[in-house]
Amino acid sequence: MHLHDYTQQSYFTAPAPDGTISPKSFEDYREKVASMLKKYNVTKAVVSTIGGKNKLDDAGILIPGYFTNAPPSDTLVFKKLIESGELKVFGEIGAVYAGYTLSDPKFEPYVSICERYNIPVAIHTGGGPPGITYQCCPKFRLYLGDPFTIEDVLAKHPKLKIYMMHSGEVFYEHALRLMLQYPQLYSGLGAILWIHEQPMDYAENFLRKAKSYGLIDRIMYGSDQMVWPHGIESSIKKLNSYEFLTEEDKRKIFYENAVKFLELDK
Ligand SMILES: [Zn+2]
Repeated sequence: MHLHDYTQQSYFTAPAPDGTISPKSFEDYREKVASMLKKYNVTKAVVSTIGGKNKLDDAGILIPGYFTNAPPSDTLVFKKLIESGELKVFGEIGAVYAGYTLSDPKFEPYVSICERYNIPVAIHTGGGPPGITYQCCPKFRLYLGDPFTIEDVLAKHPKLKIYMMHSGEVFYEHALRLMLQYPQLYSGLGAILWIHEQPMDYAENFLRKAKSYGLIDRIMYGSDQMVWPHGIESSIKKLNSYEFLTEEDKRKIFYENAVKFLELDK
């Protein structure tokens, strides 16, 4: 439920927090992502692309998501992307990076359109990379990543399909509380299964509690691999390593919950 893609122009190389360097070239990257998906039998994956048109897909695996940090600026263009099938998921929305929350009135028209067209919304929750406030994103604030900031949207749009990317991360208890409060709300594990020791702690705590609260049916696997294809493998291995989850739980998280959420069985 959480891949990214890039173009020749936007692709960059950097060390992942676990020290692994990203593939040297865009071509190499594309190839490595595709072979990783194949190796682990990933049959469908939501990919967040700037502007909503993905360039990575040759095999019909990728479901196009619309990546943005700020609210889009044109509802007609947005609707056209939905009607043409170029936008099937509204997200990843990294509102926290641009100083917004999803409840900001500027997101309202787009969220309304998504509710009307049955388009799932994918909102980034939790923190971001170290020092990001001094780099791209001076308006980034941790507190804007609190899942409670989406509650107004949930209240106003009861039919909206929505999932919290990274399952709240540092705010995982708020994510769980919100899921108990709003039975339609899903969560995607995103980067927390592999990116760094701290989020991996959150992931384990989140899943243990979700299991005891009866919430496993609304949790979906994701990797948020960005420019590090090995993140797909690391996150799959991590989830598989949890002995407190049964094979059935894992099957739901890896596959069945997403099929239900995205209505792929239709
Ligand atoms: Zn992401």
